[in-house]
Amino acid sequence: MVDEVECPTCGERFAVAVPAPEERPTELDYDCEVCCRPMVLRVDEEGRIEAVGIGS
Ligand SMILES: [Zn+2]
Repeated sequence: MVDEVECPTCGERFAVAVPAPEERPTELDYDCEVCCRPMVLRVDEEGRIEAVGIGS
């Protein structure tokens, strides 16, 4: 299962693998596949993913 997230730095959307149900909710450190900037992916119980930028 994958979900699309929008990079908080460059605004590009890309697909991310959703963690298994037993691993949710969670937060993952991730690097944008387009601009390579770091972000945090917040995953809720339903597997929805929100990308949050780190610092500036
Ligand atoms: Zn990006």
